[in-house]
Amino acid sequence: MKILVTVKRVVDYNVKIRVAADGTGVDLANVKMAMNPFDEISVEEALRLKEAGKASEVVVVSVGPAKAEETLRTALAMGADRAILVETDEPVEPLAVAKIVRGVALEEAPGLIIVGKQAIDDDSNQTGQMLSALLGWSQGTFASKVEIGTDKAIVTREVDGGLQTIELKLPAVVTTDLRLNEPRYASLPNIMKAKKKPLDKRSPDDFGVDIKARLKLIKTEEPEGRKAGVKVKTVEELVSNLKAAGVI
Ligand code: AMP
Repeated sequence: MKILVTVKRVVDYNVKIRVAADGTGVDLANVKMAMNPFDEISVEEALRLKEAGKASEVVVVSVGPAKAEETLRTALAMGADRAILVETDEPVEPLAVAKIVRGVALEEAPGLIIVGKQAIDDDSNQTGQMLSALLGWSQGTFASKVEIGTDKAIVTREVDGGLQTIELKLPAVVTTDLRLNEPRYASLPNIMKAKKKPLDKRSPDDFGVDIKARLKLIKTEEPEGRKAGVKVKTVEELVSNLKAAGVI
């Protein structure tokens, strides 16, 4: 079974982001970029499944600018076999990404597609769900455990207040949650080897996908700073303050 993994190049999670002066988004000038953390978890899971003999090949795909090749090379250095870069300099919304990945999936015929639960730049949490709907495949979102059997996958999902275990018919789309695993670091020899691994370049047009924006960004704002707290001396004072604030 082949596993397809989506990886997105996003602002590194350690970077303190700044809103662009004109409010059109986030300032990306000279900002460190990295693989979306949930996608690192997806790559790790695919590699573990391959190492356990449940998968034969791990293919990683990214939609983005030429620089997204670095992100794909990171995935190859972790151990993925092959990469596909669907190159575009335009911003791509989750629906367009899902349509492109659907096109890749129809060509590659994977048994499983692993998608991050959300990209930490847009926080959309949409791509995996849209992809499974477009393909008509089963989906297991927010996975904290994935087991592969013959023609089926058992997925433990992180839901409000607990865990839910579901059985999916393969092929399926799984989205990864934080507790699924701890991604490995790429070793230096593997980083060198990754430079020679195959990376195929494609365009959204190859899959007949129009990536024109369907959403209009109205405004991006910094969150309001937190107001300083008040120290109270007695429980009575606390209760009266809470009442005055309409909390109780
Ligand atoms: P989102 O729906 O935007 O929150 O993203 C959820 C997941 O979809 C990410 O963790 C990625 O695995 C995948 N994804 C989103 N955008 C892209 C992209 N441009 N290229 C590759 N994968 C993507």
